[in-house]
Amino acid sequence: MTRTRFAPSPTGYIHIGNVRSAIYPYLIAKQADGQFILRIEDTDQKRYVEGATDLIMETLRWLGLEWDEGAGVGGPNEPYYQSERREIYHKWARKLIEAGRAYADPTDGATIDEYRKADSAAKVPYLYRNHRPSEAELSPEEVLKLWEKGAPLRFKSEPKDYSWHDEVIGDLSTGPEVLDDIILIKKDGLPTYNFAHIVDDYEMKVTHIVRGVEYLSSMPNYLAIYEALGINHPKFVSLPHVLAPQGNKKLSKRDGAKSVVDYRDEGILPEAMLNYLACLGWNDGTEQEIYSMKDLLTAFSIERIQNSGARFDETKLLWTNGIWLRKIFDEEGVDALYARTAGFWPAEASSYDVSYQKEVLSIIYDRLKVLSDLGTMTGYFFYDPEIDLSLLFGNKFLKKLSEKELVDLLTVTIERLSAIADWTADNLQEALNELLAKTGKKPAELFSLIRIALSFAPFSPALNLTMKVLGRERSLARLNAVRSAIVNDAA
Ligand code: GLU
Repeated sequence: MTRTRFAPSPTGYIHIGNVRSAIYPYLIAKQADGQFILRIEDTDQKRYVEGATDLIMETLRWLGLEWDEGAGVGGPNEPYYQSERREIYHKWARKLIEAGRAYADPTDGATIDEYRKADSAAKVPYLYRNHRPSEAELSPEEVLKLWEKGAPLRFKSEPKDYSWHDEVIGDLSTGPEVLDDIILIKKDGLPTYNFAHIVDDYEMKVTHIVRGVEYLSSMPNYLAIYEALGINHPKFVSLPHVLAPQGNKKLSKRDGAKSVVDYRDEGILPEAMLNYLACLGWNDGTEQEIYSMKDLLTAFSIERIQNSGARFDETKLLWTNGIWLRKIFDEEGVDALYARTAGFWPAEASSYDVSYQKEVLSIIYDRLKVLSDLGTMTGYFFYDPEIDLSLLFGNKFLKKLSEKELVDLLTVTIERLSAIADWTADNLQEALNELLAKTGKKPAELFSLIRIALSFAPFSPALNLTMKVLGRERSLARLNAVRSAIVNDAA
């Protein structure tokens, strides 16, 4: 039975560089009809951030990564918060003590700092085992006593070579120099990540550990602990870094890595986010770029995770989002897309009915990149734009025309449009074509004039559709108002 987990530390929001550590194990578990677990690694109380766990759960649910077991949903291995599993870690720690592989260390912090300084001055690598205290030689009973008094518990390492297989990176091996007496249980009685995850993954029957490559350097110590505990380890799936847009460094909060929910609030669809992130450092060997969750469940494989870093590219994310916006509209219809737009319309839209909003959406959706574009792209459908003649006079196609020519063009346009009996898109298009023929102007000139007069926006959908949705009265009123403004300006 395949069992995977996402094991975040609640130290803040889940940023974009970390989400693949949830997406990939989810896919691995679900492809095999297995289980996906959410475990909260909250043993570092100094870094704990209130509300972070809720935000993590909200993010996972938004992305469609529902977990079968874990925080918030329960399951056979409760509790799923490490801070509540103290007894379990202590039970396993006692096994190590009994086997002579752990010792309670009374050395104070100042002394440890001195060891570190001395090693650095002597230019030798700092390894705690070189400073192992005499208490490391105590009998298990005495170690237990000292530990009960509050000394941290350390692993008693035995330097040796290790080799192992990583499903992404391949075969790896290390020499004895990296093994050390790492802390297993801290002074506060809580375990370190190094110890806790080993115990938990074992107790929770996790089959694949999917996490960032930053843990690779600690692998020999982890392997030594598995060995000392006499337990098998899961498969290791190490994910290369998501790189910052520039340079060769890992994307981090310091480099402006945004939270996943920030993108949600800017109008990125969960389908697009999932799609983009899943493909960041993974491909199925084809040219395909658009994947739904269903597609990913078929196409994903650990073998095709890239073993080098993948660069985060926000432009590509926006592109992917645009594709998804169109896909939802084209495949599921305007109602489905409209249902995603709540909260993104300009404030004035609320005084219009839903069917009008849907009409607007139907003619602009193919230009949207993020839903928050709705605010700037659709304003003129809901309120009269401010007339700004400089936009008109400065337009690259209209610059050449005199004010009189502009006024005359608007006059014939208003006349012809007013004569339309039935204000349909087809009739509007016919009128626009006739106006081109009649005035001898290029489409870029005549249509830019009409577009700007109607919207004062840098973009509008096809003119006939824009006017159809705006309606006869408003379209003609705006053209008239601009015409009067030019006349006044010229006077
Ligand atoms: N708590 C670790 C982190 O947030 C998890 C690493 C792991 O998945 O084992 O980085």
